Formats: sequence, C-alpha cells, structure tokens
Amino acid sequence: MKKTLTLLLVAFTVSLFSQNLTDDDFENVVCKEADAHAHFKHPAPAANPLTLNYDLKYYRFEWYIDPAQYFIDGKVTVYFEVLEDNFNEINFDFSSQMAVNDIDYHGQSLNSTATGEYLLTIQLPAPLPTGQLDSLTITYAGAPTSSGFGSFIQSEHNGVPSLWTLSEPYGAQDWWPCKNGLDDKIDSIDVIVTTPAPYRVASNGLLVQESVVGSDKVYHWKHRYPIAPYLVAIAVSNFAQYTDNVPLSNGTNLPMLNYVYPENLTAAQSGTANLVQVLQFYDSLFVTYPFHEEKYGHAQFGWGGGMEHQTMSYVTSYGWGLLTHELAHQWFGDMVTCGSWEDIWLNEGFATYLEGLSRERFPSQVNPKWYDWKLSKVNSIISQPGGSVLVDDTSSVNRIFNGRLSYNKGAYLLHMLRWKLGDDDFFSGIRNYLNDKQYSYSRTVSLQSHLEAASEQDLTEYFNDWFVGQGFPSYQVIWEQGSQGDVYVQLNQTTSHLSVDFFEMPVPVLLKGVGVDSLVRLEQTQNGELFSVKMPFEVTAVVLDPALWLISANNTVQHGELAGIDEALTDGQFFVYPNPADEYLQIFYKNGNVQGELNWFIVNALGQTVKTGSLGTSIDVSDLQIGLYRLVLQAHDGGSSVRSFMKK
Ligand SMILES: [Zn+2]
Repeated sequence: MKKTLTLLLVAFTVSLFSQNLTDDDFENVVCKEADAHAHFKHPAPAANPLTLNYDLKYYRFEWYIDPAQYFIDGKVTVYFEVLEDNFNEINFDFSSQMAVNDIDYHGQSLNSTATGEYLLTIQLPAPLPTGQLDSLTITYAGAPTSSGFGSFIQSEHNGVPSLWTLSEPYGAQDWWPCKNGLDDKIDSIDVIVTTPAPYRVASNGLLVQESVVGSDKVYHWKHRYPIAPYLVAIAVSNFAQYTDNVPLSNGTNLPMLNYVYPENLTAAQSGTANLVQVLQFYDSLFVTYPFHEEKYGHAQFGWGGGMEHQTMSYVTSYGWGLLTHELAHQWFGDMVTCGSWEDIWLNEGFATYLEGLSRERFPSQVNPKWYDWKLSKVNSIISQPGGSVLVDDTSSVNRIFNGRLSYNKGAYLLHMLRWKLGDDDFFSGIRNYLNDKQYSYSRTVSLQSHLEAASEQDLTEYFNDWFVGQGFPSYQVIWEQGSQGDVYVQLNQTTSHLSVDFFEMPVPVLLKGVGVDSLVRLEQTQNGELFSVKMPFEVTAVVLDPALWLISANNTVQHGELAGIDEALTDGQFFVYPNPADEYLQIFYKNGNVQGELNWFIVNALGQTVKTGSLGTSIDVSDLQIGLYRLVLQAHDGGSSVRSFMKK
C-alpha cells in the first residue's frame, strides 16, 4: 500500500484525500495527528482465537455488485479442514451490520448468531473430527460499514460509478465472512461477480470467463495461489482494458492486464509500458514473479494511492514511484506476508526499498533520481528524533502505516543492511528468505536469521538498535594527517533518542586529495574510536557518508588536532589511545594498525600485572581502577615495548 497524500493542515487534522495525484513525487506521509480520528482506529490487531481450530482451504465468492449502489449481495462457499476434535461450531470474523439470509450445509439450513461487532458463529448439526474437510455456503447482503482506509467504497469518476474494496489491514470482515488475522492464507479462490453490462469487474488471478446474462455481465476470476484475506479484492467500473506482455526469466510470457478509467487510458498505457522493464528487473533480483502462472495487472480506483491486491494492484495514477512500489509488494506483502502488523515494514519497507532500487537501476528514466530519493528518505526519517520501525500500537491504522517509520525508515534498514553485509550476502540472504517463507507469513526474526546465515554476522545488536530502538546517530568526525601519511580519524557519536546509546555501524568516510580520493570503511564499535588509515596522498578534505548509506543527521567534520596524538607521534614507534582511557585502550603503530600476533600485559604503579592478553584492535580497561599504568607489548622476536597510560 502506498498513499500519495496532499496534506491539508486544518486545525491540526489531516485530510486523507488528495488531489493532483499525477506524479510520484509525493512522500508516503501519514501524520500522527491523524490518529485523533477515531474512525481510523480499530481494536482488532490479533487473530481471533475462536477461528484457530480450522484451516481455510478454498473460497468461492458469488456476488452481485452494481457500482451505482453502495451494497453487496451474494454468497460465499467456504471449504475448511477441521483442526480439533468435537468441532461443533465454526466462527468467522464478519460484520454484524450484514444480514445473513441463509447458511447452507449439505442442503440443510443452519442457524447462526452474531455477537458484538464482528463475530459470526454457526452451529453445526453434529461435531466433526480432526482432519475432516467440509464446506458450507453463507448467503448475505448489506451496505458494509467501511473501516480503515475505506474497506468498501462506492464513488464515481468522470460521472461514472466506481466501486472498490481495500481491506488492509482489518477491513475484510466488513464485507465478507473471513478470518481477519494474519494466520491463515486461503489456498485458492474463485471470484464470480455479476454486474450491469456497462461495467467490468477486476479481481485476483486469471479471468476465466466473461459472459452476458440478460442485461448483466458475469466475471469469473480464478486464483490458485495462497492468499491472505486482506488481499482479496474487487473493483467495478466502466474500465477500458489492455495488456502489456512481460517476458520473464523463466521463459513465461506474463500478461500485465490493466483495467483503467477510459479518460486516463493514455497516461496508463505510458506508465505501465515503463513498468515492464521493472517487472523484469524485480523478477531477476530475488526469485521469479510469484504468480507467474496467472498474471500481474492494475485496476484503477479513487483512493489516494495504491494497494497491492494479489496479482492486480489498485492504483489511482501511473507514476513510476507508485507502480514500482505496488509491484514490489507482489513479492513482499503478497507472496511473503507480514505475520503481525508489528512487522508491517516487511511489506512496506521492502516495497519502498525496491522502488529505490528501480531508481538506482534505471537512472535515466526517473525523477527524483537515486541519490535525491535517498536524501528525501533520510530527511523524512530524521525529521523527528524518535519512533521505532517496530509498530508499537497495532490498534492504530495510522501508526501501522506511518510513512516515516514503516516505509522510509524500514527501507533504510534494508539499505544499511546491504551496506553492512555487502551486495552478495544481502541479496542471497533475502533470496533465501523469500524461498523459505514463500506463500506464507513471516516475522522480522526470520528475515534476521536468513541474513545472519548468509553473512555469518550476528545481527542481534543491529535489529535491537534499528528495529526495536528509536532514533539515529549524529557523527562528529575529527581528523588529522601525520607526517608519515597516516590519517587519523576519530569518530564520535551522539544519538537522538535515549533508547539507543550507541549505533555500531561500518561508517563510510571519503578521504579527498587533489585529483584523488579514497573511500574507507570504519567499523565503529566504540564511541570516540580512533582509526588510522595509510594514505599515499595528502588529504585535503574528509566527507562522511557521501553516498548516503546510513541514517544520520547533524554530522560535523573537523580538521584539527586530536588530543594526545601529536605528543604520541613524537615519541617511539607506537602509541596508545585515548590517554587517559576510560572504557578501552587502542594501540597504534605509527605506520598503521598493529599487525600479527602480539601478547600484552598491563602493570600497575606497584609493579603488579593486573591484566594480560593477546592483541586485538582494542583492550577493555573498564575494570581497572583509576591510576597510572604501563602497557607492555611483547613481539614474537622477544622484543618488548612499553607505554604509560592513565585510567580515569
Ligand atoms: Zn505499500
């Protein structure tokens, strides 16, 4: 899902409806102020425990829809497998606003009861055993109560009626009896909609029949892939239709079927033609298009943005950003669906990032370009000091779909992982994740474990800081170049939010000379850490993160004297840093970091050895008492060197 909003700030409220949605320059912005709108909240974040005792196998939807009427009339036939013994009633999430007219069970009419706002309970005539496959048909009608972003909307375009559904996150239960949680995909569906003849019906899967019955038309869509309930959708209007063909890497010629408002046909044709190459690009990036035996496509609707309905995204316009975002969701959101709304970034962060990757891949065709796109994301993320990518209030639709956090910061978490892991491990880890979780639900921990397996890096700290924690670092860089060419770079860091005291990250730093430069990667593990880099040229300037690999803000770079270094450099072959030391002590040779195996020991003022070890990049001195010490280095050849330092 992607909103393209024009914000109308009126008395601190935000309109969710927008105008002039022809371009994709709009930010995905959902202001927290909008949380005040009570009707955007829905207190149903988890799966309904009463629906966990059966597994959905198949739905046949048969509806009558006249887009001029705010009404749905029809029936659903549900096939389910029983998961526990003595199964004597079946529960659905279904709005009590809808009138249930009949429940047919093998020719027998059953009774049902509606409880509260959204529970339908059907009593079975006899209990069923575990493993039993059974079915029933629920006939119902009504004017659905629309929730969320407009789960069931009747509108018009150019004076012509248009009706569409958009169930994410909690709206499927408004208009059909379902399991409304993120726990059970339906294995396959048929969607059969009758509508007055001027109209077409868009839905999931392949159109297998389009027939005329009197003054009506019947559209039969067949979808044979698992589908989350919120991705089942219909759109009905006087669509013009056309198809783009997309050759896939597996040899399939995929139809991209487009149902568009006739007055927007030219813009649509231009936009979807540009998308063909992006579908091929995504198809080559991770795994092949997930629904390649059926189709991809678009249906136009009047909601301000787009929605990634499985195999057919609903879009309001045809700009690059919107189309590439919704297309990416077919992999991230549809094939692999977030298993909790806490993890919506697995849908939205990925879709946003893939939009970015399409800008990186096709630089001549897009505006904004890749760098400017990244800059706009970083600027959005740092516009407030806090906020986690982990959704901490799933009862708020606007918190779930917070553009700054779930979309932009989510996308940047992926971008930073790509930098941290490198392209090979990043892309192969995600490919493994998609293959492992295909056609099911996933949580953040699963993505983490696949990236860890691919990279052999422990990402616990990363996800603690960036996914659970809030805020971002500000870097203060101080650098100077010694007489033998060594460039010393000290990285200091403050954080914008108390939940994270330090971000361990590889920091890209560009060292620039006259007509030459060099990008170095500084793996920062300590605040105030000093790095030395041998440079064969005179460094005239230092630039932090020139390509925007990181989320950071208010950074400073200062060419100046690093306290303690000048004194150290004038004396002997190595020095210790910082001095005085607090948490750790680093050791530097003047011609670069110490190489090879060395043993060391620390002696206190009384001559007692208080600590020994083999040399790493730094020595933990946090447990030493305040005082004066000597560090003794022993090389393999038996020689030793000594430096004094203060522990503060
Ligand atoms: Zn989205």
